[in-house]
Amino acid sequence: MKRHTADVTIVGGGLIGAWCAFFLARRGKKVTLIEKGVVGAQSSGTNFGSLRLQGRYPAQYPLSLRAQELWERLEDLIGDNCEYDRAGHLYCAHDGEESAKLQDYAAVSRSYGLEIEDLGRSDLRRRFPWLGDRIVHATYSARDATANPRLVTPAVARAAKAEGVEIVENSSVTGIGVRDGTFQVTADGYGCVESGYVVNSAGAWGVKIAEIFGETVPLFPAGPPQFVTEPVPYIVRPTVQTVDGSVIARQIPRGNLILTGYPRTASDPVNNRAPVPLHKTLSAMAGLEQIIPAMAHAHVIRVWSGIEGYIPDMIPVIGESARMPGLIHAFGFCGHGFQIGPGVGLCVSEMIADGETPVPLEPFAISRFSGSTVVSEKFHSEFDAEAVGR
Ligand SMILES: Cc1cc2nc3c(=O)[nH]c(=O)nc-3n(C[C@H](O)[C@H](O)[C@H](O)COP(=O)(O)OP(=O)(O)OC[C@H]3O[C@@H](n4cnc5c(N)ncnc54)[C@H](O)[C@@H]3O)c2cc1C
Repeated sequence: MKRHTADVTIVGGGLIGAWCAFFLARRGKKVTLIEKGVVGAQSSGTNFGSLRLQGRYPAQYPLSLRAQELWERLEDLIGDNCEYDRAGHLYCAHDGEESAKLQDYAAVSRSYGLEIEDLGRSDLRRRFPWLGDRIVHATYSARDATANPRLVTPAVARAAKAEGVEIVENSSVTGIGVRDGTFQVTADGYGCVESGYVVNSAGAWGVKIAEIFGETVPLFPAGPPQFVTEPVPYIVRPTVQTVDGSVIARQIPRGNLILTGYPRTASDPVNNRAPVPLHKTLSAMAGLEQIIPAMAHAHVIRVWSGIEGYIPDMIPVIGESARMPGLIHAFGFCGHGFQIGPGVGLCVSEMIADGETPVPLEPFAISRFSGSTVVSEKFHSEFDAEAVGR
């Protein structure tokens, strides 16, 4: 078997692996990134493209804000803006109960320095006249943004390659051993990479890498169905999201409206399939009609979903393995990895190059699964029964 050496081997070439590779190479590390398919073809390339700051898991804000600063410098960092657009995000409530939830989210966001505007009915009619009448209250964050997921990961990987990263595609990591304190990573058709560190950024498949070292995570694969319409006149500037997540929509300047909504549906990481049940298109369009009535007659031209790793507490695994020093996990991003991706890459590069990162990552440690697993309040309402095995 052909032998190679590196400082760091990265397993998985989604957005997380690509950003880790980029920042590690910038710190002078010799990096090999191994991807079983092509870079950015899984969740990282099929997601909705929202860089939302409002309403995040509270402990994720330091990471999320760090990531947003990097998104705001994307073109300087990688030489491509990937349709990054600071379009804003409108979080919408139908009634008092949802409105109270919005106020809670806004209080947390503000405590981290975000500017959140509170908009009542008359403000909404004046500023967003296309919004449906059933929305009684919304919060607006101007710093929230979007980018084109199809473009981002390949662009980050190209930038990483320009910094010297070896990118190996169509090669699956089939085993990882340890000899004399050095990892031996076996990759189909490529050979064995010897390295001092391994980054597990294998997305919904990350649990398989963790299991090699006796660690397990209650991860399951699923994805929110996505829809795109034909181009229609461009009227909707911010991303619009109902608090219950049943409708999330954004329009791109070319005119197409991109639409998604919960509950998420089951996907199949073995056969690499993420089917969208037919009825989801009808219910998504019915939801859209309520929120943006002018879009009710737009034709859906394509539907898709993705294979994302979810964990019942709805937060990812980030940090060093509890059993194997030098193995850094960064997987199971629970539907939020596009936004925090650059922040995760930077933190992982610091963990390896400096032995520490200034961002508190303790809530994401894999050791949290040694006792009983916490279940997020969103867990039951945001997934189809078959996705979570109910
Ligand atoms: C439909 C959808 C919509 C979403 N919308 C948003 C959104 O709007 N905003 C947001 O922030 N997030 C969103 N997300 C979540 C976001 O896309 C993910 O959290 C993020 O892309 C995860 O990146 P990743 O690199 O961890 O995973 P992936 O993109 O899945 O990359 C992991 C890679 O590892 C490779 N791999 C796995 N096993 C091996 C192996 N043994 N050897 C080699 N390679 C391997 C896989 O082929 C894959 O390419 C959405 C997700 C989906 C599915």
